[in-house]
Amino acid sequence: MDVYGLVGNPVGHSLSPVLHEAAYDALDLDARYVTFEPEVGAIEQAVAGAAALGLAGLNVTTPFKRDVLALVDPDPTADRIGAVNTIDFGADSPRGYNTDAAGARRALEHHGVPIEGQEALVVGAGGAGRAIAVALDDAGAHVSVANRTRSKAVDVADLLAASSGHGLDALPELVPAADLLVNATTVGLESEQSPVPAELLGPDLTVMDAVYRPVETRLLREAAAAGARTVDGGWMLLYQGVEAFEHWTGRDAPVEAMNRALRGRL
Ligand code: NAP
Repeated sequence: MDVYGLVGNPVGHSLSPVLHEAAYDALDLDARYVTFEPEVGAIEQAVAGAAALGLAGLNVTTPFKRDVLALVDPDPTADRIGAVNTIDFGADSPRGYNTDAAGARRALEHHGVPIEGQEALVVGAGGAGRAIAVALDDAGAHVSVANRTRSKAVDVADLLAASSGHGLDALPELVPAADLLVNATTVGLESEQSPVPAELLGPDLTVMDAVYRPVETRLLREAAAAGARTVDGGWMLLYQGVEAFEHWTGRDAPVEAMNRALRGRL
């Protein structure tokens, strides 16, 4: 049996077991997915222990994504983002990936949203913001980043080919100029708040929210009311899991089965 898992602290509310176990069931794989909650200072021992015990792969979540970078051989995207959320123990040394980046891109592609040549605005410059900004940049968008702490937006913009970093006070100029807006802040997470004033949203915009609790955030509701196309955070969650599954197994993921299981729990 292949054992996969998630390390984070906390991991109690994670939907990753639902996603991955649905894939194993759909493909009749002899595999299990379990969650681990090491002490915050113990990630190095946890990763070494997982390797020694023969785990096939690990997902990594808060607060360990940055620390794990130094413990694995990261692929170029994870290295550029500065964070790893997926470890593959199948190679000679553990390989690290950041599937949040490809997850965001594939969520947009699933909905037929063009990226190349588009004006993209990422609101937020934490872990998700960095990954999404790099993904959109790699896919050929012209990316602007706006964040409450402006210096962090500038740091993310410095990673990208053509970009600029701003404070949230620039939203009135940035949002009307954007084709695609992605919320990568925690604003809206289990709250009725939105990071973007509703009056800035319009019908020519696509809005994706990384927040998936609730799945219909205030931002997405207000975007839909303004006539914008919307993509909820469940799609990014789905496709980051799909990417991890594909890195680990080398097989196409059973996307529909994984999505059905996830939607049943969101
Ligand atoms: P993080 O690293 O802690 O970053 C938090 C971000 O939110 C920062 O940009 C922060 O701005 C901003 N922020 C927090 N409170 C704010 C407020 N009151 N007003 C304006 N901005 C505020 O978190 P993360 O890991 O990037 O996660 C961000 C969100 O994405 C979470 O809701 C997470 O669940 C979600 N996420 C979803 C997926 C998915 O697959 N759908 C994957 C990863 C993350 P400052 O820099 O100014 O503090």
